Amino acid sequence: MGPPGAGKGTHAAHLAGRLGVPVVSTGDIFRAQVAAGTDLGRTAQRYLDAGEYVPDEVTNAMVRERLAADDCGAGFLLDGYPRTLDQVAVLDDIRGVDAVVVLRVDQEALVRRLLRRAETERRSDDTEDVIRRRLQVYADQTVPLISVYDDRGLLREIDGNGEIHEVRHRVLHVAGVLVPAESAGAPTPAE
Ligand code: ADP
Repeated sequence: MGPPGAGKGTHAAHLAGRLGVPVVSTGDIFRAQVAAGTDLGRTAQRYLDAGEYVPDEVTNAMVRERLAADDCGAGFLLDGYPRTLDQVAVLDDIRGVDAVVVLRVDQEALVRRLLRRAETERRSDDTEDVIRRRLQVYADQTVPLISVYDDRGLLREIDGNGEIHEVRHRVLHVAGVLVPAESAGAPTPAE
């Protein structure tokens, strides 16, 4: 979990590779559906473009189906789900989670990162107005989930400010998948 621009996608991909499980990114699935022009994509597009969450019943049905696939049998890493209390309830019903990693990043850094991404990736929701809306929606609808998972003892909060390799090190550390050389804080060759 983390606000837009926190680095969820970046770190999810690396961590999932280490854990040998697939990443299930709801944002990526929605964007793929939009690109493929499916009914789901058409439904999702107007919410994405406005910076609003796709309705829970649509998102939940999609995640339920995705997590039922064979490749998720031994585990999975969710990126961008759950984002609402209703989604938490559905995920509880599908399967419990082992840990919830939250990336905390200063607000100015977030906006800077998102505007930079807007220049390189041209996502329809990376304009300044929509970015502001997405940050507000995160504060209103998703921040309450943090205390829910904290109460369950599952929360792993991480400082998401700084260089990618620094944050990666923190993520791997809380996930318990650091190898000794990395414990010294050295960047990995993949960088
Ligand atoms: P970011 O976290 O940077 O905003 P994502 O790629 O995770 O980007 O999500 C992009 C958009 O996809 C969201 O603004 C929202 O419209 C939609 N979306 C993604 N995950 C969910 C979810 N769990 N529930 C509802 N909408 C979602």
